Amino acid sequence: MDTKDIERLVRPNILAMAPYSTARDECEGNPEIFLDANESPYDNGFNRYPDPHQKKLKMKVAAIKGIGAEHIFIGNGSDEAIDLAYRVFCRPGIDNAISISPTYGMYGVAAATNDVEFREVPLRKDFSLDEEALLAAADENSRLLFICCPNNPTGNSFPKEQLLRIISAFKGIVVIDEAYIDFSSGASLLAELDSHRNLIILQTFSKAWGMAGLRVGLAFASPYITGLFSNVKYPYNINGLTQEIVMKKLETSVPDTVNIVRERERAAKALSEYRGIMEVCPSDANFILVKCVDPKGLYKTLIRNGIIVRDRSGVRGCEGCLRISIGTRKENDRMLYTVGKWSSGLSPAGTSEERTVSETAVSPDETGTDRTAERRRATVFRATSETGITIMTDLDGKGPCFISTGIGFFDHMLDQIVHHSGISMLVDAKGDLCVDEHHTIEDTAIVLGKAVSEALGSKAGIARYGFVLPMDESEASVLLDFGGRIDFRWDAEFSREKIGDMPTEMFRHFFKSFAESAGCNLHICAKGENEHHKIEGIFKAFARALKAAISRDAFPYSLPSSKGVL
Ligand code: PMP
Repeated sequence: MDTKDIERLVRPNILAMAPYSTARDECEGNPEIFLDANESPYDNGFNRYPDPHQKKLKMKVAAIKGIGAEHIFIGNGSDEAIDLAYRVFCRPGIDNAISISPTYGMYGVAAATNDVEFREVPLRKDFSLDEEALLAAADENSRLLFICCPNNPTGNSFPKEQLLRIISAFKGIVVIDEAYIDFSSGASLLAELDSHRNLIILQTFSKAWGMAGLRVGLAFASPYITGLFSNVKYPYNINGLTQEIVMKKLETSVPDTVNIVRERERAAKALSEYRGIMEVCPSDANFILVKCVDPKGLYKTLIRNGIIVRDRSGVRGCEGCLRISIGTRKENDRMLYTVGKWSSGLSPAGTSEERTVSETAVSPDETGTDRTAERRRATVFRATSETGITIMTDLDGKGPCFISTGIGFFDHMLDQIVHHSGISMLVDAKGDLCVDEHHTIEDTAIVLGKAVSEALGSKAGIARYGFVLPMDESEASVLLDFGGRIDFRWDAEFSREKIGDMPTEMFRHFFKSFAESAGCNLHICAKGENEHHKIEGIFKAFARALKAAISRDAFPYSLPSSKGVL
């Protein structure tokens, strides 16, 4: 297609219109006094209208994207460009637009607001593109064809060759929405603009660039099309402050894709291992579509725990699915923890006595193999009138981590256990802190001991023993044996009453309770001047001792016992 062909697709009223112009557009030279736009003359940083052409910003975007500034339209979010595509190319009540289904909802919404028929062509069951059906949906009044790639909400991308075939075959304008391209392993179609005059590519600063609140979206197209968009848009569609802030962000930061992609893969793997999650769709974006047995139930559980995801189970083609955006590591851990709790069918804290789900005991999955038989995981839930505690341990460190007891210093110490033992733990403790910290700390120790002991199972192959650790001027030694005899020794003194918000008398009590509950022999001895170092050393040494004692590498052939039993 050439520019003449594109011109034939434009609404006659748009072709005929004269765009709004400003005196500053017409002025050459360097004016110093601005009496042309009825603004306030008093400089307060934003008394002047912003540049309607966003020249500086376009130059910056051009440099980043490696494309001429004349190919760039900047909109109030890419949603503005979607709406403009309709306003420029579709005659209300006459023309139609085509898109895939399921996909991003705004293509349909903008069609409706512009009184344009919207034709949806379902993706195949595996979310691949039905190229023939898509082209067959077109008639002589089909002006626009929207394809979102990577697609929202399915997360997958479509092959480049297929997209190029569609762009060549379609007689109208093809809009490829690359809002999530920064998270994709595939390349953008930007390089194809010169050879395909009917192509518009949408991108946005709302995702990987982290500027959703500023509302800045991009459309890349031939200069003829970007010119039409500029004629139709509101003159000052990107406000002055936004232009400034975006410039600064583009100069001083890069899009965050590495962390998000890493977290996406971690979350996808963790989710796929939960019972009740039937499918985790492969994603090229910053979200994952997850098919589960009871989407409404999981959605409600997540909401109850303060986590909002997108329920897509009512969308055709997405039955049973929730769409989960990727958050920070901590947020994802909380989400995974909550999904884990839902998955193991545990009630929230405070509703029953004590229940244990030992993962080595789960029933075989649909394939007939027990996929968690090798995993040393356990979830223990315990509720009394004083505390409600859920702890999930994964001795092989493959699970998510999340710790919340309501006692800051205690959380910090439990974190040390995670980091120095390699054990993944989810600790959700709600206790009567209005009385004091005693019950929460004691019961956390009891439940943790039980969770470790349950996860250890038969103990076959474990190393049994532990470890000594220096901590600045202090030293801590922790001797630990999971052989089965229960004993506890403590030789560490604290003169301060509290460290942080944790009473020091509870240190001894925590470990004693753990030893009794886990059924192990635990000797702890620490010396030093700094009490914070001393207790941190103890927790770290305990974690290292735990790591050494539960390690299975040392004795892969048998129980480490001369008696042959533990
Ligand atoms: N395209 C797709 C596929 C999207 O998912 C979204 C927003 N979720 C947008 C465009 C809109 O982006 P913007 O914030 O730039 O309007």
